[in-house]
Amino acid sequence: MGGKSTLKTRMNALDGVFSEWVRRKDATPHGIARCVTCGHCAHWKNQNAGHFWKRQHKATRWNPFNVAVQCIRCNKFRGGAEAEHAAYIIREYGLKAFEDLEEAHNRVKKWTKEEVQAMILYYGGKLKELDQSLSSISSASSLSNLGANITHPSQPPRARGSQ
Ligand SMILES: [Zn+2]
Repeated sequence: MGGKSTLKTRMNALDGVFSEWVRRKDATPHGIARCVTCGHCAHWKNQNAGHFWKRQHKATRWNPFNVAVQCIRCNKFRGGAEAEHAAYIIREYGLKAFEDLEEAHNRVKKWTKEEVQAMILYYGGKLKELDQSLSSISSASSLSNLGANITHPSQPPRARGSQ
């Protein structure tokens, strides 16, 4: 079961990285993300990444057009709020993208470990970019603290040359 379980483990890891990216990519600097189907705002950790075509459709499982921020109510208790989610996809990405997703979702797609690993690295890189843009915001406010820790040389600079 070695190879198969490794692919499954990799897919689970990709689910986690991809879900975090979906929930964080449009979040505010304070981490607030908006449900695309009802407008409910909450911290991204308390929101879901909702699939339009559900996760068992492997061909569209990690398609960024197919997955969006949803609140738990819309994702779990309103059956994914499919009508509103369809409207969101068309509004945001266009009818062509919606039709492409519809066509793609039933294709048989057997992902390889290499493909899954490549997506983990890709979305992992996107998360690092988000971390960096956040830390550049917070470091701007802590610059004065940093300045206090800089030690200045106690000796005066040596004169260069004699002329
Ligand atoms: Zn909602």
